[in-house]
Amino acid sequence: MDNYLDTAVRAVETACGVCRKIQSQLVHDDTLIKKDRSPVTIADYASQAMICKILNGHFPHIPIVGEEESSSFEDPKNANMLDKISSFLPDWTKTEIIKSIDLGNGAAQDLFWTLDPIDGTKGFLRNQQYAVALALIENGQIILGVLGCPNLHLNGGADGSIFYASRKAGAFAKAFGNVKNYQLKVSQNSGNDEIRFLESVESAHSDYERQSKVMQNFGDNYKAVQYDSQVKYAVLAQGAADVYLRLPNPATPDYREKIWDHAAGVAIITEAGGTATDMYGRALDFSAGKKLSNNTGVVVSNGRIHDRIINLLSA
Ligand code: AMP
Ligand code: MG
Repeated sequence: MDNYLDTAVRAVETACGVCRKIQSQLVHDDTLIKKDRSPVTIADYASQAMICKILNGHFPHIPIVGEEESSSFEDPKNANMLDKISSFLPDWTKTEIIKSIDLGNGAAQDLFWTLDPIDGTKGFLRNQQYAVALALIENGQIILGVLGCPNLHLNGGADGSIFYASRKAGAFAKAFGNVKNYQLKVSQNSGNDEIRFLESVESAHSDYERQSKVMQNFGDNYKAVQYDSQVKYAVLAQGAADVYLRLPNPATPDYREKIWDHAAGVAIITEAGGTATDMYGRALDFSAGKKLSNNTGVVVSNGRIHDRIINLLSA
C-alpha cells in the first residue's frame, strides 16, 4: 500500500507543478471545447500524460481510467495543441505524449486507477480552485485517494497543498514540497454551531435553488461558500466546512456523476471521519464503470449532521 500511495502522491505532486506553470502563462487558445461542450486545456493533457507515465512505469498491469483522450488532436483546428503541450514537456517526444495520455483510457477492472488530471477546469481558467485527483479502486472499494490542490493554502501558508488517504490508515495533508504532514479531522458540528455549506461555483453543476431550501432550514445559522472541484472535499476534511451539497441540476436530470470527480475526495473525507452518500443516503457505488450510475447527486458531511440533511431532502 505504501508503494501505491507514495507513487500516487509523487505523481500528483509532479503534475501539479506543470499545471501551475501552465496556469501562470495560459493564453486563450490553450483551450479547446470537447464534444460534451466542456473545456479542456493543455494543462489537462500534460497532467494526464505525466501521471499515466509514472503510474504505468511502476504498475504496468493496473489500468488507468482517466478523463482525457488524445483523439481531440486529430481535428485540424486543434493541431497546435500538441506543440503547446510539448513546449511544457521539453524532454518528451510527441509520440510519447500521445501514448502517455492514452494510457489513461483503460477500462475499470477488479483493480484500477481513476484520474481527473484537472478537476474544475473552469476554476483553473478563472485562476481559482482546481484539483488533480487520483484514486485506486479495488472491487468497488476506494483503497486510496490523492488530491493535489495548487491554489489551496494550508494554515495561512503561501503554497498549494496535497491531501491523501489510504483505507483504514487516516487522511493527511501537507504543503507542496514539504515532508511535514498533519492528520485531517472533520468538524464536530452537529448543528448547534453555524453550518458551513459548500457547493459548486458553476450553477449548472447542481441545483442551487433546492440546496438553498435545505440551508434555509437552519434559519440564520448557516453560510454557503462556493469552490470549484474536489477542493470542496479537502476543505471539509480539514474541518473548515460541515456539508457539501451536490443535488442534480433540473436541466440535466439524467447526468450521472463521473467516478474520477469523486473517488479521491471520498477516500479523504471518509478517512477524516466524514460521510459521503448520494442524496437519498445511499452509499456511492464505485463498481458500476466510469459513472456513479446507481446514485443520484452527492451529499458529503462531517458525519454528525448527515442524517439530518438526508431527512430534509426526503421531506
Ligand atoms: P465542480 O467544480 O464541483 O462544479 O465540478 C466540476 C465537475 O462537474 C466537472 O469535472 C464535470 O465532470 C462535472 N459536471 C459537468 N456537468 C455536470 C452536471 N450537469 N452536473 C453535475 N456535474 C457536472
Ligand atoms: Mg472533473
